Amino acid sequence: MRTAVIARLALVTATALLAARPASAEIQARLRVKSGQTLSGIARRYDCTVAALQRANDLDGTTILAGQRLAVPVCKGKASARPGKRVANRAAAIEIPLVAGQSVGQPWSGTLRRATRLPQGKGYLIRRPQRAYGAAHVVGRVRDAIASVRGDHRRLHTLAIGDLSAKRGGSISEHRSHQSGRDLDIGFYFKRKPAAYPSSFVTATAANLDRAATWDLLVAFARTADDAGGVQAIFVDYDVQGLLYDWAASRGVDEGYLDRLFQYPEGKSSGDGLVRHEPHHDDHFHIRFKCPPGDAGCG
Ligand SMILES: [Zn+2]
Repeated sequence: MRTAVIARLALVTATALLAARPASAEIQARLRVKSGQTLSGIARRYDCTVAALQRANDLDGTTILAGQRLAVPVCKGKASARPGKRVANRAAAIEIPLVAGQSVGQPWSGTLRRATRLPQGKGYLIRRPQRAYGAAHVVGRVRDAIASVRGDHRRLHTLAIGDLSAKRGGSISEHRSHQSGRDLDIGFYFKRKPAAYPSSFVTATAANLDRAATWDLLVAFARTADDAGGVQAIFVDYDVQGLLYDWAASRGVDEGYLDRLFQYPEGKSSGDGLVRHEPHHDDHFHIRFKCPPGDAGCG
């Protein structure tokens, strides 16, 4: 009797496994994830669905990492699949306008003209609305990066947006830069939203940091580094770099990519990396954007 029960259980388990990973799924492509790619983006490109990619690759969530290998199944009957709401949202890409003449001078000695205001939006809190002004491309890229991360994670708490610049730019308290509409302070994602957050920034630790979402946030900015008006530099504490570096390395992210991205582990004064150490930046990223191309007044 007992043997029969066990045998039946084994059969059920085997059937469940087969159902979870259909043997019939034909593979149309095998690829290595590039920096900045998202599961929803890959699904769109191959006329597939996020759910089918998850099934074919045994993924629980939607986080994928640069360097990771993915099998893309042939997605027949795609129309009957129901892509998540956020996947649909992601399809609406935000335009990045490049307007000359807004950002004048340098981030630490400059002003802002005809400023663009970062609007209140879904998933983030602007801590000081009177300091939520930037150049148009900066505002566009900030909105795009946040939307991209939200499109790829099912559950995220509200993100803290710190200062950009004042409406007319110039010097503001607590900052040396943030004068010309090209700087942004932005908080991290946490496993559990700390009580003080997002009205205050909260220091990242190995225990509290949601490394998957914070990594994706970092990459959503970093992947624009080669684009017109994209990210020029990202400032964050060296130890926080270490938390993200080690996490990404453990997930199989290409080491060459990590070494181009971070100073870590070469030391705080290393000249390598888009992401640079800055004291007092263990509770937020400070993101600096490039000038629009050909804008002579922006430096
Ligand atoms: Zn800052």
